[in-house]
Amino acid sequence: MKIALIGIGKIARDQHVPAIANSADWNLAATVSRTGTVDDVPAYTNIDTMLAENPEIRAVSLCLPPVPRFAYAKAALLAGRHVMLEKPPGATLAEVHALAALAQTQGSTLFTTWHSRMAQGVAQAKALLAGKSVIKGHITWKEDVRRWHPGQDWVFAAGGMGVFDPGINALSILTEILPAPVHLQDARLDVPENCQTPIAAQLTFSNGITADFDWRQEGPQNWDMWIETAENRVELSEGGSKINVDGRDITGEAAGASLLGEYPALYARMADLVRTGASDIDLSPMVHVADAMTLGKRVSLPAFHL
Ligand code: NAP
Repeated sequence: MKIALIGIGKIARDQHVPAIANSADWNLAATVSRTGTVDDVPAYTNIDTMLAENPEIRAVSLCLPPVPRFAYAKAALLAGRHVMLEKPPGATLAEVHALAALAQTQGSTLFTTWHSRMAQGVAQAKALLAGKSVIKGHITWKEDVRRWHPGQDWVFAAGGMGVFDPGINALSILTEILPAPVHLQDARLDVPENCQTPIAAQLTFSNGITADFDWRQEGPQNWDMWIETAENRVELSEGGSKINVDGRDITGEAAGASLLGEYPALYARMADLVRTGASDIDLSPMVHVADAMTLGKRVSLPAFHL
């Protein structure tokens, strides 16, 4: 199946282009980006032109930052194409609900991807926690924004989500593996005085679950979480790629462990969705972020520069 990539920037080059190149399901047939291109792939700067000139391209994958993404997704759905959205799926919840309704009307697939859910240990953690009662848990998601987002000013502009841009990956894992939903009860948001979005956040959820997100972590980076039930302590580390139960590393041991990388698994899932005429739309990680922005107490910090 032919697919077009929209927004040729960091994640398109790092992950989407290689995942499509190695996919048995997809051929990269066009790109749409104001300046970015991919070698040997027809490049457009206008999505309407690309859609009009390439009726055989049935799907588009949107790798833009969240704020400009909606207009491109709407144009593709209105043109009868299937749409795959990078995380977070939009700048607001309501615009993703609007895309979901449009996809249904058009009979198109809409896939709100959460790449961290495809990390190797996540399915195992979900299976281990199924049917259990969660007593407590903690997420530590601390990375260096200057290392991972050099020059990307949009992360600190309104709609860029700040530290929730990586933090939502942790929340996508949490919402996938927990046996029952939790809800946010308290939040602290640390916002540099020259930024619209937080650089750090501490969250408290029901069921004794807490989270610590920080974008100022130099040296070793932490993408870890643990969940305790009466029976076990399940730990996911390195972004969900490693799993440990009661002190024993069980990574890859159980059925359900992903054998594909995160992005190849997303493209395989998109192919299944298109073939079966289904959509996969889950906003639960973004609901927690929206709740934190609504409920959180803001603490103003000195200016921060990327
Ligand atoms: P990026 O490199 O800053 O932006 C991607 C491309 O989008 C840019 O190169 C730009 O291409 C286009 N773009 C930017 N602003 C635009 C605007 N206002 N209107 C139209 N096009 C615009 O961002 P990224 O790091 O790839 O992240 C994109 C998405 O992927 C985000 O939602 C992010 O959360 C997600 N993601 C990123 C990473 C990562 O490691 N960076 C990892 C996983 C997921 P042109 O200038 O050529 O138009």
